[in-house]
Amino acid sequence: MWFRQLLDPGTSTLSYLVGDPATREALVIDPVLEETDALLAALREDGYRLVLSVETHVHADHVTGGARLRELTRASVAMPALASDCGCADRSLHDGDRLRVGAIELVALATPGHTPDSLSYLLDGRAVFTGDALLIGTCGRTDFQGGDAGALWDSLHQRLFTLADDIVVYPGHDYRGRTSSTIGVERRENARTTGRSRDEFIALMGALDLPPPRRIAEAVPANRRCGLPLEPHAA
Ligand code: FE
Repeated sequence: MWFRQLLDPGTSTLSYLVGDPATREALVIDPVLEETDALLAALREDGYRLVLSVETHVHADHVTGGARLRELTRASVAMPALASDCGCADRSLHDGDRLRVGAIELVALATPGHTPDSLSYLLDGRAVFTGDALLIGTCGRTDFQGGDAGALWDSLHQRLFTLADDIVVYPGHDYRGRTSSTIGVERRENARTTGRSRDEFIALMGALDLPPPRRIAEAVPANRRCGLPLEPHAA
């Protein structure tokens, strides 16, 4: 399997390219609009063709490159069904849906809480792309966009921490330069959840008092359109 992790330094967003060496087809998870050239260069360098762009959720901190990539490569765009309100996606995903590219299979797992639409994607039973549900040693915030700390606790404990210990965790962000973790390590050591009850976790998440993401006003509506630019306003 071909695999590349890309970092958008402006937002510490991690995107992932996964390809089948037999068919030379690839998919991307959570592409960042500003990193489109880097992403296409990575595909070109290693001789892969992009056929699918997948989102874990509607991001508040960056604009997705999904629509731009579709324009440039004709890759289709898949989004969580709850994430899109404009019909921009070629495919709307629900819990349990399967995505196939060559011999690669992703299974969607509903992991709401950071946002109601959040999906994680299990890759061939050996890795999981968790978006902002589970981050390394921490988790996504739950204080806007319909976030719900209780729902996130349940997603972590019922959907993600029940996976096998050795499954590799690839998160949607890391702010300290780390690249992956495992389910076992996160279940035992995640600083937000370990040693806390569900109620204590909800209290902790409610008291984080973080500033809003800088680009939220622009990013959320743009991402609901798969990153398509707004139609110019009529005069
Ligand atoms: Fe997010």
